[in-house]
Amino acid sequence: MDPVIATGMFVLGLVFGSFLNVCIYRMPRGLSVVRPGSACPHCGKPVRFYDNIPVLSWAVLRGRCRQCSGKITPRYAVVELLTGGLFFLCYWQFGLSLAMLKCAVFGFLLLGLIFTDAETHLLPDKLTLTGLAAGVIFSLFVPVGDLLSVVLPGVVQLPVSSDLSWRVFSLFDSLLGAAVGASFLYGVGVVYLRWRGVEGMGFGDVKLMAMIGSFVGLRLTILTMLAGSVAGSCFGLWTVFAVWIKRTQRRRQVFHESGSAARRNAWASAMVALRRHQMPFGVFLGSMGLVAFFFGQQFLQWYWRQM
Ligand SMILES: [Zn+2]
Repeated sequence: MDPVIATGMFVLGLVFGSFLNVCIYRMPRGLSVVRPGSACPHCGKPVRFYDNIPVLSWAVLRGRCRQCSGKITPRYAVVELLTGGLFFLCYWQFGLSLAMLKCAVFGFLLLGLIFTDAETHLLPDKLTLTGLAAGVIFSLFVPVGDLLSVVLPGVVQLPVSSDLSWRVFSLFDSLLGAAVGASFLYGVGVVYLRWRGVEGMGFGDVKLMAMIGSFVGLRLTILTMLAGSVAGSCFGLWTVFAVWIKRTQRRRQVFHESGSAARRNAWASAMVALRRHQMPFGVFLGSMGLVAFFFGQQFLQWYWRQM
């Protein structure tokens, strides 16, 4: 690993992260990401170039606008640092290669989607569908996975070394990952809608999963969905539990209810809150997709060895 290139990648990531912040703010609002230049969300005054340096400006101004002192969310610095770290990690894992580019594109889009979903509960098509197309195209140049060894383990030795055949199988794996990911989430969405009567999963999640599938292939798509569901459920349970505890305490203090009545009433209102609250499932799918992309193959190998 060349330290100069590694630093360069980190800095490039900071710059791309800065652009990603613009996308996260503007895309759900239907604004252009190109024009006009950055402006303060409070006073609308343009941000001067020396106040627009990734991370540093935010730290120097202590998260406030220079002109109106309005608070600037730490998300700006967090996204920049994460994108910087991501680009560094891509270079560290893959060196200067097409695989590195694929990794950077995938992570860049996912970071944008994770933060947009967390803030607005939206997953812009501009990111998901662009990603889906990119994932399919990349599969022709960077092998997606070793689907063959899974489908036919040790049974046949197909000539995967030949240039054309690996591309065909890689493309197939990419399309299969996208199709299985999208249809599974679509199915879950339909079941959820019938069962609960509310939309628990938007069509954005379906497109997000198609995009992840196209980048990681079938096996890691399944792993991503499993891990995403576990992470999402844990978060959901933890949220309900926290709301329950908080409301029980409040009921006892404010309404002077007995312990059991307070617990029962607080539980009922926590369940109502859960029903109204739409979970940003894209956050969990997106982050697990990223984890699967980096560590999924090693995890599966480790897992099969334990069996
Ligand atoms: Zn301002």
